[in-house]
Amino acid sequence: MASLASCIFCRIIKGEIPSFKLFESDKTLAFLDINPLSRGHALVIPKHHGAKLADIPDDHLSEILASLWYPLQATGATDYNLLQNNGRIAHQVVDHVHFHMIPKPNEKEGLGIGWPQQQTDMEKLKALFEDLKSRM
Ligand code: 5GP
Ligand code: ZN
Repeated sequence: MASLASCIFCRIIKGEIPSFKLFESDKTLAFLDINPLSRGHALVIPKHHGAKLADIPDDHLSEILASLWYPLQATGATDYNLLQNNGRIAHQVVDHVHFHMIPKPNEKEGLGIGWPQQQTDMEKLKALFEDLKSRM
């Protein structure tokens, strides 16, 4: 699906909702986040509508990868986090794939990260991946 009439980011692409655009090509748009976690927090999106990463064609994704550094240029941020949420429980609110580029100027501003390490059934997990590799 190329675009969705009700999708807020498709409407930003079409210019129906105002945004401050940082970069635009046939396949990609970067614009400032309306509720930034830090100065220069930007969103980089494919123009192809899709809710989750696997819904986006490879050629759109590869162009996004090459564009992610761009929003950093204006603020000169040297430390930053890239965030890409998929699904409600993973904190995705807007169902159009987007990459957050979030400058991390100091300890307080930018993305705060919890890192809850845990034990897993590592041997069973490895067997699952071995099985997957053997079928590829
Ligand atoms: P998510 O939690 O889905 O990964 O993040 C969605 C992001 O989109 C949020 O950071 C939010 O501030 C941003 N956002 C939501 N609506 C708008 C909008 O209308 N304009 C802009 N520029 N950003 C938006
Ligand atoms: Zn969309």
